Amino acid sequence: MKEQVLGVDVNTENYDELIPKLFANIDAEKKSLVVAINPEKLMKAKEDPELKALLNRAEFQIPDGVGVIIASKLQKGNIKSRVTGVDTMDRIVREAARCGKSIFLYGAKPGVADAAASKLIETYPDLIVAGTQDGYEQDTQKVIDTINEAKPEILFVAMGSPKQELWIEQHRDNLYPTLYQGVGGTFDVLAG
Ligand code: UDP
Repeated sequence: MKEQVLGVDVNTENYDELIPKLFANIDAEKKSLVVAINPEKLMKAKEDPELKALLNRAEFQIPDGVGVIIASKLQKGNIKSRVTGVDTMDRIVREAARCGKSIFLYGAKPGVADAAASKLIETYPDLIVAGTQDGYEQDTQKVIDTINEAKPEILFVAMGSPKQELWIEQHRDNLYPTLYQGVGGTFDVLAG
C-alpha cells in the first residue's frame, strides 16, 4: 500500500510486510527499485518536479525518516513506523542469505564495497556476494558487463541520491538483477 506525503508516494508496510513483497518480485522476475524517503528528499522533491517524478516511479518508497512518520500522522495516514534504508538492506541481505539469492555491491570508493561485503559475510556466513564494484569507474558499459557476468539477483547501489536512483533507472533494462536498492553512504558505514 502507498500513501502520498507532500506529493511523494510512500509505502505503508513495515519490515515484516515489505521483505516478502520484495522477494516475491524477485521470484516473479519483476524488476523493482527501493528508494528511501526522508524529509530532506521530500523538501527537494517539492522544488524539483523531475526528482519527484523519479521517486514516484520507483516500485517501493520506504519511510526512512521520522519526519515522514510525523507527516503521515498529521494527515491521519497509515505509515506507523520507520523503515530505514540501512535496516532494509540488512533484512534483504539476511533473507538473501537464507534463500540463496546472491547480491552485488556497487558504489563508494575503491576497497569500500569489498570491506562492506566482508562484514556482511561475517554476519551472514551463507551469503553469496556475486561481486563488488567501486562507484568511480567511468566506463558504464564495463560496470554493466561486470554486474551481468556476476548474475546477482540483488543490486545495492551506493553513490548518493539521486545519482544512484538515476543510474539504476537508466540502466536496469540492461541489467541482470531483479531487485535494486539505492543505499547512499551505507557501504562506508558497513566497512567502518
Ligand atoms: N559515490 C560514488 N560515486 C560517485 C559519488 C559518490 O560511489 O560518483 C559514493 C561515495 O563514495 C559514498 C556514497 O556515494 O560512499 C554516498 O555519498 P554521499 O554521502 O554524498 O551520499 P548520501 O548518503 O548523502 O546520499
